[in-house]
Amino acid sequence: MKIAVVREDAPGETRCAATPETVKKFTALGAELAVESGAGESASVADGDFEAAGAAVGPRDTVLAGADAILCINAPDPASLGAAKGGALLVGALDPLRRRDAIEAYAGAGLEALAMEWMPRITRAQSMDILSSQSNLAGYKAVIDGAAVYGRAFPMMMTAAGTISAARVFVMGVGVAGLQAIATARRLGAQVSATDVRSATREQIQSLGAKPIFVENVAGIEGEGAGGYATEMSEEYQKAQAELVSGHIAKQDIVITTALIPGRPAPRLISDAQLATMRQGSVVVDLAADAGGNVEGCVPGENVARHGVTVIGASNLARSLAADASALFARNLYNFLSAFWDKDRGGPVLPDDDEIVKAIRLTQGGKVVNERLSGQAS
Ligand code: NAD
Repeated sequence: MKIAVVREDAPGETRCAATPETVKKFTALGAELAVESGAGESASVADGDFEAAGAAVGPRDTVLAGADAILCINAPDPASLGAAKGGALLVGALDPLRRRDAIEAYAGAGLEALAMEWMPRITRAQSMDILSSQSNLAGYKAVIDGAAVYGRAFPMMMTAAGTISAARVFVMGVGVAGLQAIATARRLGAQVSATDVRSATREQIQSLGAKPIFVENVAGIEGEGAGGYATEMSEEYQKAQAELVSGHIAKQDIVITTALIPGRPAPRLISDAQLATMRQGSVVVDLAADAGGNVEGCVPGENVARHGVTVIGASNLARSLAADASALFARNLYNFLSAFWDKDRGGPVLPDDDEIVKAIRLTQGGKVVNERLSGQAS
């Protein structure tokens, strides 16, 4: 089994799909690793580090030649994979809905594309879940970025010159990123409150020492809902939530929004009129910026000043923690492939009827085979 790791070519990408640690782990399974020159550079891993871990380092075509699996962060340009052999696995965050043309091209080239972001939310797959590993880091970084722009301190400080009061942080959306944002803001000494539409998050908020702020008069989502994800809320709920937020937000210094609904634009949680009620110098970090934004007027990748409030359009924050984000992503890939490793065959065997395989396999035998893509025009 030869595993190739390509250097990312997407603009702004800093991460790498392998680390010396996962190279060693794959080698221990009996695989041969080949890493494209410079693949780890922006994640603080030198070519020499990969070589020391046992990988061959070289140009893309040499690395791809004869490879049985290709590891990547983002979907590579299909034209750059000409040296790959038919039947090779292509494993990474392939963005199938937006990169439909690339997926068709992978099928045409006989590659078996596997989209790691479609990993099902089942216990067995938790260690393979790239959305969770990257969201966790993004939640942390959102607080750090917010703190860097905020012109005041986070913790309460009693000094000889007088007392500084603790920053008030409000986290909207308590999934993986939101939980880490709460924990990080608490560690920095802020007074934290949080909200979500899923009632199961109330206890999680409390267990992190934050205050739950919930819509009480209209029911939210009970139980696990749609596989742990939120759905779009009724008009009645949205109205009640807007009233709740209006009352709370004017007293906050930092707001971190993380609310997402799979397959839909992000829900609008903060209007321009609500922003105007916040005090001068407040900061809003919108982690849903790339999905349309939770905050009115948010621009992905930019800091926008509105009514004296800085709105940070946080875009792909995991990229700004390239070394850790790569380490976790690379382990997700290793955990996935090693879980299906067949010792006798010396490589992964992906059964057609496995829940994980069915969810993430996009192409096979020259065709697009995933249910979520079939019937969808290219
Ligand atoms: P997500 O990124 O889809 O959404 C972030 C949060 O926003 C969610 O908590 C969601 O409920 C919330 N939200 C959506 N609409 C909202 C609104 N209008 N107002 C307020 N909040 C809103 O979610 P996520 O971070 O991927 O995680 C969601 C859940 O799934 C968590 O409980 C997590 O632990 C679970 N999970 C399980 C697995 C697994 O078992 N393998 C993997 C990942 C996540």
